[in-house]
Amino acid sequence: MAVHAFPGAATFAAHMILPANTLESARQWDAQDPLNGFREQFLIPTVKQTPIIYFTGNSLGLQPRDAGAAVEREMEDWARFGVEGHFHARHPWFSYHERFTAGEASIVGARLEEVVLMNQLTSNLHFLLVSFYRTKGKRVKILTEHRPFPSDVYAMASQIAFHGLDPKACMVEMQPREGEQTLRTEDILAKIGELGDELALVLFGGVNYYTGQAFHMEAITAKAHAVGAVAGFDLAHAAGNMPLRLHDWEVDFACWCTYKYLNSGPGSVGGAFIHERHLKADLPRFAGWWGHDKKTRFQMGPEFKPTPTAEGWQVSNAPVLNMVVHGIALAQFVQAGMERLRAKSIQLTGYMEAIINGINDKHLAGLQIITPSDPDQRGCQLSMVVPGKGKTVYNRLTERAVSVDWREPNVIRMAPVPMYNSFEDVFRFGQVLKECLGIGS
Ligand SMILES: *Cc1c(COP(=O)(O)O)cnc(C)c1O
Repeated sequence: MAVHAFPGAATFAAHMILPANTLESARQWDAQDPLNGFREQFLIPTVKQTPIIYFTGNSLGLQPRDAGAAVEREMEDWARFGVEGHFHARHPWFSYHERFTAGEASIVGARLEEVVLMNQLTSNLHFLLVSFYRTKGKRVKILTEHRPFPSDVYAMASQIAFHGLDPKACMVEMQPREGEQTLRTEDILAKIGELGDELALVLFGGVNYYTGQAFHMEAITAKAHAVGAVAGFDLAHAAGNMPLRLHDWEVDFACWCTYKYLNSGPGSVGGAFIHERHLKADLPRFAGWWGHDKKTRFQMGPEFKPTPTAEGWQVSNAPVLNMVVHGIALAQFVQAGMERLRAKSIQLTGYMEAIINGINDKHLAGLQIITPSDPDQRGCQLSMVVPGKGKTVYNRLTERAVSVDWREPNVIRMAPVPMYNSFEDVFRFGQVLKECLGIGS
């Protein structure tokens, strides 16, 4: 039997000719994958008792096997202690969110005082915009990426209107160059320079949900600061997908959800980052009792005294039952480590890209990957356009137990996630894709 060495990240990154594309080689790579054991820790949906090929972890991550029992334990504590669970539960509810600080900080590259788990994503975006979208004179504009996620657009537009301004005039959406699908960093930086003292805020996704493009957050932040603007990021598609260094990059604020790559279940708790240098500044905020200094919170005084960390942005007490699952999921991330996940991710996505390119080369299939081919400009997701028959191919994939998704107007999104997807998944996907295109192997 031929031995297929585990392909180094560089092999795929240079992307190149596939070393060997057989079921046997894919299985050997899985056997050599140091993160191989994690797949077993997830519940993968099945069709006729066979696990489906699940490439929609960018939309809703899979359920960790241990999540159910953890929820059950929390229910037991509630039954046993009633209100006293705030202090006597195994993980007291009073300080429940503190369980996640260290793990979350390691995932987004933050100091402990800079992160908090609270609310949900769009709610956090609103709360952070209250503090960080601060207009002054002609400095009123928000620059955002091409095709931002609709919820973010609604949040930005309604915040602008809340300031008594016109969203059409104040929200500026970057456009790619003629004939291009993604944005060039140099163009983003030039646009920030051009908007100059009219720019209040740059608000980008870390990774765009549609194209899968990862933005150069450090460069964008530095340029925003150079013109006197603030830089914030929606990390829905970046958290748990790529290693981040929010503190070192000097990002002003960020928010994310935990149900996509972070596998914490539908509608689970959101995350927020506020850079250290803003923690003691007297920023405007919409306050609530859970943001009040812990030592005196239960004195129930009339005056708000914020906790001097990101926790000061909390408004309500922690949604413990959905946060339980995040505890399990986060522990898996801490154990796997973002660096190892990223190394595997570059390989898996490079493998998928090579398979798609191979089908094009051999069969002139006309598949277009609009996600950048440079691994530094993407996470694990590939967005594919199949001119003229995208929806048909999408439907056929779905019928054949491949879970991918369709995003209007014409993209099939596929995310082989390193936590639980395998090289075998990607190999089998390639075989099914050929079938869906009417190509024999
Ligand atoms: C998934 C996603 C959302 C969803 O917002 P919720 O408040 O969690 O419902 C918002 N913005 C982006 C960029 C997303 O990818």
